[in-house]
Amino acid sequence: METIIAGCRSCGAKNRILLKKQHLNPRCGTCKEAVDLSNQALPVPLGDHDFQQFLKAAPIPMLADFFAPTCGPCRALAPIIINLACSYVGRLIVATVDTSHHPGTSAHYQIRAVPTLLFFRNSVLVDQMIGAPAERELITKLEQLLQ
Ligand SMILES: [Zn+2]
Repeated sequence: METIIAGCRSCGAKNRILLKKQHLNPRCGTCKEAVDLSNQALPVPLGDHDFQQFLKAAPIPMLADFFAPTCGPCRALAPIIINLACSYVGRLIVATVDTSHHPGTSAHYQIRAVPTLLFFRNSVLVDQMIGAPAERELITKLEQLLQ
């Protein structure tokens, strides 16, 4: 399982945090203070083996970026997706799905072009964007999702 090593702002200890648990308000193993992930979160990579299970358990809204590694617009969007994972940590789960490795999930959501962004609330698909949006456009959409 993928993890990040997150520094604690209170005591400086390094904490190993599962990407899939970043939204669960992780606490420092040393001083027990909340670990601030706002500049160190990463998107959660999901695939055919875990997407539905993770989505069903998601306690907050989720944005899923369906991408392909060979797609230029997807690569251009990637740093924006990472920024969103940081700035919305705890309010929004930001996930990625590599469509070249996970055709089942892509077929389930009828992904025909990459990147496609899917927006989930209460584990239900509520909106989508096809193609790479400008960051400001994407943030506007997210603010609607989080209202
Ligand atoms: Zn600490």
